Amino acid sequence: MAAKLNDYNRKRNFRRTSEPKGDLKKGRNGRLYVIQKHAAQQLHYDLRLELDGVLLSWAVPKGPSLDPSEKRLAVHVEDHPLEYADFEGTIPEEDYGGGTVMIWDRGEWEPLEDNPKKAYERGKLKFRLRGERLKGVWDLVRFRSKDDEEGKNWLLIKEKDEEARSSEETNVVEDFSFSVTTGRSIEEITEEAGSGKKESR
Ligand code: MN
Repeated sequence: MAAKLNDYNRKRNFRRTSEPKGDLKKGRNGRLYVIQKHAAQQLHYDLRLELDGVLLSWAVPKGPSLDPSEKRLAVHVEDHPLEYADFEGTIPEEDYGGGTVMIWDRGEWEPLEDNPKKAYERGKLKFRLRGERLKGVWDLVRFRSKDDEEGKNWLLIKEKDEEARSSEETNVVEDFSFSVTTGRSIEEITEEAGSGKKESR
């Protein structure tokens, strides 16, 4: 259990980055949900779901889609500390994940399986999101492919429900280009970090 955040801590130099150095929150049973827009070398959206004291994390290159026919690749990445859900700011360019991070959506998630931990380990999570921007039922499904022996590739899929929309009707990623907590654009977050102003926490 204590090893859960080792990958996270090993990849970062906390004297340089303003990302939180987190510890495992044992015994906490919250259901925090967050998506962070991450303007790194390649723009992506990091989906994070709290489970057993950490944030399970997937990098979604195209971001979520409200259209059930648009399956979005979600690359599983290392568990993040719970404090990361509050991180909005910049990571030094030359560092791991260098670039700007925006809190794009946040709220709570509700697993729709009796045992979400087992469902996660088996590679299929069904859950309801209660975010400010994303709601309704979603699936995360691991799939196997030859070039992915570690099993890092999952798909993020919107289920058909009253929150689903066709891609012709709406593009949620384009509709919301500002931080859900501070209203700032990626450019504003970058500028304010660069000018030495205190970053939002
Ligand atoms: Mn990222």
